[in-house]
Amino acid sequence: MTSGDPVDAAEPLRVRVDQDRCTGDGLCAQYAPDVFELDVDGLAYVKADDATLLTAPGSTTAVPARLFLDVIASADECPGECIYVTGSDGTSVAGPAVSTAGASSG
Ligand code: SF4
Repeated sequence: MTSGDPVDAAEPLRVRVDQDRCTGDGLCAQYAPDVFELDVDGLAYVKADDATLLTAPGSTTAVPARLFLDVIASADECPGECIYVTGSDGTSVAGPAVSTAGASSG
């Protein structure tokens, strides 16, 4: 099997929310209600493609192609800066830059 295919337009983006930073304003759910929803705790979570709310910390969901722009706009506008959009290879597409190594404290 080769991996030289061009970008698969089916589901190349994934998104997650860091609830520790979510302000609960609901902006994301206004932009893309098929992807984001506020739970009873008042924080935003992503939804699976069958609309199940994914409340486990760090859950990601695939972004339907028709919602790319809405989800990226949500990440850009999110006041908590806590919406992370990544490509299929894990690179950051929108949202705060993800630091993966050498976390510094202080
Ligand atoms: S836009 Fe950001 S801060 Fe606001 S509810 Fe959505 S994830 Fe939380």
